[in-house]
Order: sequence, then C-alpha cells, then structure tokens
Amino acid sequence: MRKKRVGLQSNRIYLSERDIPKRWYNILHDMPKKPKPPLNPKTAEPISIDELAVIFAKGLIEQELSEKQWIDIPEEVLKVYLLWRPTPVVRARFLEEALETPARIYYKYEGVSPSGSHKPNTAVAQAYYNKIEGVEQLTTETGAGQWGSALAFACSYFGLKCKVFMVRASYEQKPYRKVLMQMWGADVVPSPSKETQVGRKILESTPDSPGSLGIAISEAIEVAISDDKTKYSLGSVLNHVLLHQTIIGLEAKKQLDKVEEYPTIVIGCVGGGSNFAGLAFPFLLDKFYEKRKSLRLIAVEPAACPTLTKGIYSYDYGDTSKLTPLLPMYTLGHDFIPPRIHAGGLRYHGMSPIISKLYADGFVEARAYTQNEIFDAAMKFFQTEGIVPAPESAHAIRAVIDEAIRARKEKKEEVILFNLSGHGFFDMSAYNDYILGVLEDVVLTDEDVNELTRKLSSYPKP
Ligand SMILES: *Cc1c(COP(=O)(O)O)cnc(C)c1O
Repeated sequence: MRKKRVGLQSNRIYLSERDIPKRWYNILHDMPKKPKPPLNPKTAEPISIDELAVIFAKGLIEQELSEKQWIDIPEEVLKVYLLWRPTPVVRARFLEEALETPARIYYKYEGVSPSGSHKPNTAVAQAYYNKIEGVEQLTTETGAGQWGSALAFACSYFGLKCKVFMVRASYEQKPYRKVLMQMWGADVVPSPSKETQVGRKILESTPDSPGSLGIAISEAIEVAISDDKTKYSLGSVLNHVLLHQTIIGLEAKKQLDKVEEYPTIVIGCVGGGSNFAGLAFPFLLDKFYEKRKSLRLIAVEPAACPTLTKGIYSYDYGDTSKLTPLLPMYTLGHDFIPPRIHAGGLRYHGMSPIISKLYADGFVEARAYTQNEIFDAAMKFFQTEGIVPAPESAHAIRAVIDEAIRARKEKKEEVILFNLSGHGFFDMSAYNDYILGVLEDVVLTDEDVNELTRKLSSYPKP
C-alpha cells in the first residue's frame, strides 16, 4: 500500500539567490498582433525618440520600443533586487481549507520589498538607466504613495535626487507614506504646488484644491521638461515598466516547476496593468504557442474605475492636462477623476496598451468588484493566511475566492496562481472603515461612461 504523506508540509516555495532570472521577458516579441504606437497629438504621427528623450532616459525608450524577446538585467540592478528577491511563492493551504475547494491556490508575494509592493522592480531599473546617462534628479507623481515610496527607495540607492508630487488630499490624510519617502531622502511636494505653472494656475482659481493624479503628473512632467538634468518616471502603463515586472512571473514559473505545478488560472489586479503583466506574461508565452491553450488569465479592477470591463478602446491621453502622447488603450476618458476608493493604486482612467491589445484580442479576461466585495475577501485571506493585503491586491483575492468556489461546485481541479502585489500595513484606515461598516460601494454606470468618453469619438482608433 502506498504510504500517505504525513507530517509537516512546507507552504513556501523559495528560489535560491543564484537562480534569480537574469533577463526580463519582452512580450512584444511574441504577441500575434502588436499594439499601435503612441502618437504625437499635434501631428497624429508616431512619437519620435527625440520627443520622448526630453522626459525619459534613452535606455528606457529603447526598451519601450524594443521587440527583442529577452533583455539582460544589468548587474547593478540585480544587486539591488537581491535585497528582497527572489520573493516567495506560497501555497495558501488554510484559505483552501476554509473554502473547502479542490483548487490548489498559490500566491506570489511581492509585499516583501522595501516599500511593500511590486513597484521597486521597475523603480530600481529606471533609477539605474537614468543614473548611467548622467541624470541627477527624477520627478514623479504619487497618489496614496506606493509608487512615490518605491522611486524614493530606488533613487536613494543610485544617488539620485527624487521629487515626488503627492496629491494634496493624500498628503494631508495619509501622512505615513510621505514620511517613508522623506526617510529615503525624497522631496515630497503637495500637489497642486507653487513650484510649477500648472500648479500656480490651479491654486489661483482654486486655492484649496485637493489635487488629482492628473494634475500631479502634469507638474512632474513640467519640472522634467524645464531642466535637462531632470527626467520623469512612470510607475505603470508603459511597455518598459511591464517588461521590468516580468521578473515576478519568471521567478514564479521556476518556483512552481520545483513542485511540478503549472497554473490553470493566473489572476492579478489591474490599475495600469504592471503587476498583472509581470506575473502573467511569462505564462502567456506558453499560451501563444499552444502548449497551454486552455490557460486563463484574469485581470481584476474596481467597479468604481472599470477601465477594461466598461471603458472604450481608443487613443487617449495619459493625463488630465494632455501633456502625454496619445496611447492606444481602454480608457474611461482623460477627464475622469475616479471616486475616492481605498485602492488608490487602481484609480487610473487608462490601461497599458499591451494589456489593452491582449484583452481586445481575447487572450485576457477581465472583471470588476466593489469595495465591500474586495474587503470581505481581504479579511478572509488575512484570517486564514495571516497577511494584511493591500486593498489593490484584495481585488485579485476576490477573484481567486470566486474561482475556488466555482471549482468546488463543478468538482474541478484547478491550480490558481495570483499576485499578492503588496501588503496593506499603511491602509489601516481603510480596514477601519470596513470594520465600522462605512465603506461605500461606488459603481460606474454605462451612462456615466458614455458621457465621459463621448469626446473620444473624434480621436484616432487603435
Ligand atoms: C500601484 C499598485 C497596483 C496597481 O498598479 P499596476 O501597475 O496595475 O500593478 C497594484 N497593487 C499595489 C500594491 C500597488 O501599489
């Protein structure tokens, strides 16, 4: 008789530092149909490298446009990654038991990074390429502070100055990530500010403006344009950002290999799309070439900002003030200011052009949940697995739980892998609202979306 395995089984699948991936995976090489290029809004022609070079480092622009399948990770970047990478893949056994599901659930935990999310994977790379080109300062925007703290951390390792325009409402209401950024030496400015024309103009007409991400992006870009030792840095959406995040999925693949597993479903939350892409793209490579045709990839977004599930596929601006190129993407319109839900990192009107194309071509599924749905899921995860998830990541967890319950009902064996993109230790006020029962469920309706996207009908079609 075969002996049943007894005793302790480990939950964590580690990867030794030696086995850390040495190259990023570029999905543009393998996409059957590629997204169209960003356009200069004045000419409607593809934007030139020189135009992009005003705000971004050349090394990053090269990656933005590259179709090379594998891109070497510089040794200096790998050295910093080794501070927290490889990150663990964890089998969520207690969650599985609580759900009585036959599904095996694994999560890749990116919350172990210094700033607590996946964002340093690209921040470190971006700081490095800027540093070797002689740039002295990076500017950026941040909402609740996840991206700003990741870039502040990365700049501190490469001796760059870092100026972060932080949406004023968050600056006042959520001071702790501001403190974290300042501890890494960043200059954190509440936006709108008096430091830029854009900011001064808004303050003149609205002295108590709470600010928005769109305004903060415009301020950060203005500072980068007006000083040639300063460049701008973006934490999601663009091709090079997604590229840097693929280290997540490349590691996860090796880790699941070690226990002879391969996912049937891969799940991630989407704001601009970078953590989902980072986990999913290395697996999608197999789906393209028919080896894993039935693999499902699910992107999860808030019902208050349903870019993929309700938005339209059009060229649109990345910011409110129309300073960015036109990008081919799913969008709710660049004037949309998403309701103040707690998943600040998912409050973006647009979506990565690569993910938009994959969704339009049917390679990726999408769904949307409300705040109470995702906090119910976050609590279940916390009470079984012991980690406080970021409200963003809780969107992925909601979808995981729903898929695991479906697997139980259909008596189907599934292997679910999801990205726990960050921890929620800075989001205790959100959990407090949940406990007090005062979380609002905001849903964007079709009428709202029609209204918001009406003027895009005259924009170029992707
Ligand atoms: C910023 C953020 C997100 C959303 O950004 P993507 O580019 O879509 O990944 C998700 N989770 C966490 C923890 C974040 O900080």
